[in-house]
Amino acid sequence: MAKLGIATVWDLLTYPPRRYLDRSLVKSIASLKPGETATVFGRIADTGLVRTRRGFVIFNLMLQDESGYLRCLWFNQPYLKDRFHPGQMLVVNGLVRWDRGRCLINPEYQVLESQEAELVHLGRIVPLYPSTAGLSNRQLRTVIKSALDLYSAQLVDPLPPDIIARQKLVDLRTAVRNLHFPQEASQVPQARRRLAFEELMGLQLLMGLSRRQRRQTASGHIFGDRAWRQKFDSILPFSLTAAQMRAVAEIESDLESGQPMYRLLQGDVGSGKTVVALSALLKAAGSGFQTAVMAPTEILAEQHFLTLQPWLERLGISCSLLLSRMDARQRRRVREDLRQGSIMVAIGTHALIQEDTEFRCLGLAVIDEQHRFGVKQRAALLAKGSRPHILVMTATPIPRTLAMTLYGDLDISVIDELPPGRLPVTTRWTTEANRAKMLDFVGRQVAQGRQAFFVCPVIEESEKQDIKAAVKLHHKLQSGFPGYRVGLIHGRMKLEERRRTMDEFRRGWIQILVATTVIEVGIDVPNATVMVVEQAERFGLSQLHQLRGRIGRGSHRSYCILMAGGSLTPEARARLEAMQVSQDGFRIAERDLEIRGPGELWGSRQHGLPELRLANLISDASLIPPAKEEAARILERDPELASAEGRELKQFIKRRFPGAGDLMGVG
Ligand code: ADP
Ligand code: MG
Repeated sequence: MAKLGIATVWDLLTYPPRRYLDRSLVKSIASLKPGETATVFGRIADTGLVRTRRGFVIFNLMLQDESGYLRCLWFNQPYLKDRFHPGQMLVVNGLVRWDRGRCLINPEYQVLESQEAELVHLGRIVPLYPSTAGLSNRQLRTVIKSALDLYSAQLVDPLPPDIIARQKLVDLRTAVRNLHFPQEASQVPQARRRLAFEELMGLQLLMGLSRRQRRQTASGHIFGDRAWRQKFDSILPFSLTAAQMRAVAEIESDLESGQPMYRLLQGDVGSGKTVVALSALLKAAGSGFQTAVMAPTEILAEQHFLTLQPWLERLGISCSLLLSRMDARQRRRVREDLRQGSIMVAIGTHALIQEDTEFRCLGLAVIDEQHRFGVKQRAALLAKGSRPHILVMTATPIPRTLAMTLYGDLDISVIDELPPGRLPVTTRWTTEANRAKMLDFVGRQVAQGRQAFFVCPVIEESEKQDIKAAVKLHHKLQSGFPGYRVGLIHGRMKLEERRRTMDEFRRGWIQILVATTVIEVGIDVPNATVMVVEQAERFGLSQLHQLRGRIGRGSHRSYCILMAGGSLTPEARARLEAMQVSQDGFRIAERDLEIRGPGELWGSRQHGLPELRLANLISDASLIPPAKEEAARILERDPELASAEGRELKQFIKRRFPGAGDLMGVG
């Protein structure tokens, strides 16, 4: 049970079944009609693996009930032969087809322990739990049943009655009972909805409490400088979009408020978050405070440095890069300068705060790419003592409801508009078979005076193999385009060297630039109209979107060509197709979540937040806004959760999110 995350009776009572077997839906094999979706329950009569001439592996299974035989087939899952054995009882669910007899292709399945078969006949709807070796579904069911009988009378509903009524929820006892042993199938979604709601509301309360506590206990630095604005305007080569102006104003008012800012700056790729961050940085410097700018990787940190440093230099603000790969002497010097206060802006990775870097007066932390900057790191930053203002920038826009959950404790500014003059980018994915055509196309664009990027994947920053691939491609292209200059940049090159190459590309001296994902941020070359992404299936959706944001910035039509290497998984194909149809970062982020699930965004490893058990951030997205509203309403009337009702809720939060209390400062 510990393996399943069950430590208490309460855990047991809220352990959700993976699915249910509704006996009324179980059909006899003889009655199955092709075209219908059916659940069948029977004994495994025989199994076997076959290899087709085309190289597929098919696992065959013959299922038997009193009425007849049913063939079940699974493609390319040879390991199933170790999972199923003749004599086992099995439930399968799928679309019935006819191929020399009734069959199911790739049905869902659940193996039942032999004794369990009897149980199926007991209730009408039987819960099937995700289980683990050594613990049978039957045992789990028996324990849960007795826990329900013994303890459900003692369950105290943490949700106040007004919320239950307003949100049309079922009460806790009913929900728990129906979660496990519903009388009717329709009771299950009600039960889940109720339990998901309380989970989401608990999380919102937790965030609300932590936000409140931060507000109360922490007084923020007041950045009084007003002269920054003129300097800002003097170096900006363009005027801000309305959305940027709004974000700048929101941030400025935070910085003057006397409370520490804790703000998320959200905006699509290319929406211009960097200059918004720059505005905060100038105000900090003008007020005598240092800023730390942090990125998730050293390469991204360098890119920020390359973007920000020239601007800062013009205004006489000292700025320095601090990376772990720099030699010890250099690092020591930068640190010393930070301690002395002779450097006002430090740019580096998240290690900037984790190592014992000392600042003379750190007033602001700008954090790029929040996905990898979890709650724990945020807490570490706050614990630095100087209580800097915090501005988190997201490179990947995420759906609003998700942002509410993941960043419920942050204020949010959204840049929902791109700078003027951006053109849509035509995107196509294709296979290696069309490489010659692709090169032809690139050649024509270059002949017309345009420029092109070729991007090679880097899996690990340090991986030599990937750099070798980039070097090889560089050679090939150089000989393939003899009249032109082909440049190369990758993460192992010296910063100066990279800077020079990028500069030459920007000036048009280099027409084709081969790069590892270095160019993910930073390079701005309006004349570049082609982006070829090699082995595009190895990139994540948001990364592809980010890359594509580098083109379509000039007056010429731009093209993004995604080259699919080897064979594509269904997910990879879905990603490439999503890129073809959409250019809206929010849409793409949503699609990304659908394709890979929220796990990656959510996992406690990354965020220091506990797993959600019942709530699913995608399918229960509609519950998030009301959960947030109700949480806010509760905190308004009972900010400390000190009333009887509040204490009950606090208990619930502690029980539901063990450990999180300390993390978020909820005693
Ligand atoms: P992101 O939000 O993806 O970090 P950047 O800050 O890198 O976007 O900005 C993308 C590009 O757009 C940069 O080259 C930047 O100089 C330019 N840019 C930003 N704001 C504007 C604006 N208001 N008008 C024109 N160009 C802008
Ligand atoms: Mg950026």
